[in-house]
Amino acid sequence: MAVVQEKELLCKSFLSQPKKLLIGGNWVDAESGKTFETRNPATDEVLAKIAEGGKADIDKAVQAARKAYEHGPWRTMSTAQRARLIYKLADAIEAHIDEFAQLETLDNGKPIKESRYVDLPQVIETFRYYAGWATKLEGETINANANFFNYTLREPIGVVGQIIPWNFPLLMAAWKLGPALACGNTLILKPAEQTPLTALRLGELICEVGFPEGVVNIVTGFGPDSAGEFLVNHMGVDKIAFTGEENTGRTIVKASAGNLKRVSLELGGKAPNIVLADADIDAAVKGAMLGIFFNQGQVCCAGSRLFLDKSIHDEFMTKLIDRAKNMRQGPGLDEKTQIGPQVSKEQVERIMSYIAIGQKEGAKIVCGGEQPGGDLAKGYFVKPTIFEGVNNDMRIAQEEIFGPVLSVIPFKTMEEVAEQANKTTFGLSGAVWTKDIKKAHKLASHIKAGTIWVNCFNAFDPAVPFGGYKMSGYGRELGKHSIELYTNIKSVWVNLAE
Ligand code: ADP
Repeated sequence: MAVVQEKELLCKSFLSQPKKLLIGGNWVDAESGKTFETRNPATDEVLAKIAEGGKADIDKAVQAARKAYEHGPWRTMSTAQRARLIYKLADAIEAHIDEFAQLETLDNGKPIKESRYVDLPQVIETFRYYAGWATKLEGETINANANFFNYTLREPIGVVGQIIPWNFPLLMAAWKLGPALACGNTLILKPAEQTPLTALRLGELICEVGFPEGVVNIVTGFGPDSAGEFLVNHMGVDKIAFTGEENTGRTIVKASAGNLKRVSLELGGKAPNIVLADADIDAAVKGAMLGIFFNQGQVCCAGSRLFLDKSIHDEFMTKLIDRAKNMRQGPGLDEKTQIGPQVSKEQVERIMSYIAIGQKEGAKIVCGGEQPGGDLAKGYFVKPTIFEGVNNDMRIAQEEIFGPVLSVIPFKTMEEVAEQANKTTFGLSGAVWTKDIKKAHKLASHIKAGTIWVNCFNAFDPAVPFGGYKMSGYGRELGKHSIELYTNIKSVWVNLAE
């Protein structure tokens, strides 16, 4: 097995050092002195002890970010200097790409092929894309009234709190930091408690490349009654950007009301992945696999509802099941691994409970449905699982499982599938597989979701907006749309009347 041996672990020295909070340019212990453990999902072994930030630490971080925003060199440096710092950060990550990939795989569990060749390149490109934006922010002049000269300024929002999940730890940090920094904000990043390591290593590079102190603060800790909640409640924070569960999003909206801070949310999904009768079956089978098993199904835009035209159902299922059964499951550091462990024991319990719910609801397991034994028994593994004969009203078709569990729903007509695709509280993404350009565009326009893929799945680019309709959240990340999330518009009226 080509598992990365311990001696080849580039992140070994980083792992052996204490994991502190980055506040005002200094690495400090939590005021309480508390720590928590982060574990390797492939083995259940402890990887590192992490400082557990609390209220006092969030207070300090907000003060540091405020000071850096109001009085530091960040405010007065040219946008070109700001851009150069972000470019330097991207270069520094690239110089350590293998180390970051290993660290991400160790902490999150995902296959090294994905962290090295999907996550990390996207992280680097996201920083580069937003570095480019720093010098291109502009206001406008408006000819509203001859007696006035009016112009607008696009200004940073100020101190931003960014709370991210564990499924793409470093990539979510890049989606948040890139635009916030390009627009001139200062920030406090709160990584997920399950996967804090790459954000902390990123913090080291942020210091090394020369970002002024206090521009980026990183406070590790938990959500409720911990760093996350204190950040959301804090009256000194001007905006919260959050990616995570729908229920947490709702809590955050309520908790942010104190100072009516801006909030942007990217929440869950239950994407319809629709295969019409005329589709290229082999391509669609590959797309369905990518849609549900990429990142162990821990993807908010996962194609977790597979709608199959009845006329191709059996052929499609034979091919799909064959592929799913033959996926190589193993530790993420094994280069041959195609599907790794889930991120935590809690996630495995949640997934297994949904598998039981699906069976009770009358759906039939045609692949997986259990945890593997043998060498994998001590890790957080769940076999790739497929339910056949699912009805769109079942809980396994309506609730986000966030694991490698696919619900297959047959349909007869375009009208029927179009209606069912939208019968969900979520609206993050959807996909259509067909050779008929008219049907493709019709469905793309009909599905209420922020991203539609036609004859592809999980295509991403930092230039292309991403975000939700309905209960999948609001605001668009990536592209120029993220600039809206991190700037305020000010209009200035100058009286020209004599
Ligand atoms: P999951 O249940 O999959 O871990 P969450 O939405 O709970 O997803 O977590 C995403 C991020 O939100 C994590 O960084 C977590 O610590 C944080 N979080 C969870 N609950 C809260 C909360 N009440 N307030 C602020 N942050 C929270």
